[in-house]
Amino acid sequence: MTKPQIRKDYFKDEYVIISPNRARRPLELIEKAEGSSKLCSFCPHNFDNKHQNTVTYRDNNPDGEWEILSFINDYSPLTPDNTSAYGQAEVVIETRRHGMDINEFSVDHIVRIFNAYAERYTALRNMHGIKHVLIFKNEGGKAGASIDHTHSQIIALPLLPPKIESEARAYGKYRLEQTTCPYCDIIVAESDKPRVIWQDENLFVLAPYASDAPYAAWLIPKRHIRLISDLNHSEKESFAIALKILLGTLDKFGIPYNYFVENAVNSEDYHMHIKLAPRPNIWAGLELGTGVVINPIAPEFAARIYRGQVGITKGLGIQ
Ligand SMILES: [Zn+2]
Ligand SMILES: [Zn+2]
Repeated sequence: MTKPQIRKDYFKDEYVIISPNRARRPLELIEKAEGSSKLCSFCPHNFDNKHQNTVTYRDNNPDGEWEILSFINDYSPLTPDNTSAYGQAEVVIETRRHGMDINEFSVDHIVRIFNAYAERYTALRNMHGIKHVLIFKNEGGKAGASIDHTHSQIIALPLLPPKIESEARAYGKYRLEQTTCPYCDIIVAESDKPRVIWQDENLFVLAPYASDAPYAAWLIPKRHIRLISDLNHSEKESFAIALKILLGTLDKFGIPYNYFVENAVNSEDYHMHIKLAPRPNIWAGLELGTGVVINPIAPEFAARIYRGQVGITKGLGIQ
């Protein structure tokens, strides 16, 4: 594909302009910068004195030290004791070791992170007055001077965010009209397309047709399940393998990213999944003004990069 194309989302009224002509900027391999752990507030030597009372989840290593934990974010604007900004925000520290990235962990370690997500999701979702719980990760990439101590965030909100509500409404409309689930249908429709990144018996990973970000990827379980807490051990292992592939690739190029765990709203039907949204560059004006995104990386090309089918030479970009 060389000419720009306007593409519509599978089932939502959302549009993107896939414009590969803009992708002239070469990708370069990024050398990792060494970050300091001395002042890092998530490293055990700083964390343990200050936060013992706010820990909500703890997974220990064989030495009895914490390896993964969740605690209440000190800087959260939402707190359970404030009726004007009710809610709770937690940080999941994904390891006690400073300077590691999630893609460098073993599959077993990532499964344990998913166990933390699932347990805290359920606990916060059951908190009185909470309407939605978002699990997400912001990773700043390696272009900067320091490495953040790898972590994710979980926010419990007293309201249903409009973006989530709009996705749930579009899902419900499709379900009503087609009588099938759009995500189950996407797995079938895309299975022989060049946008498939990876799959096994549990998980389907693709670069979506109307990708709204360069290198965007969706991780959809093959089983129709509503919540992250419905994932079984084997499905969590599949997510771990896929995240190692995807995040390992982004890490190599120093591309910052977010990922979001999308779960069912209330007791409604849904097909949970994770959306990975890299942020290598932004056409902010058009996007802010119209909601239409320009994506310079065609998803078919992104899938080839993730599948390792495009050679990359340091400093010279893509060959
Ligand atoms: Zn640290
Ligand atoms: Zn489904």
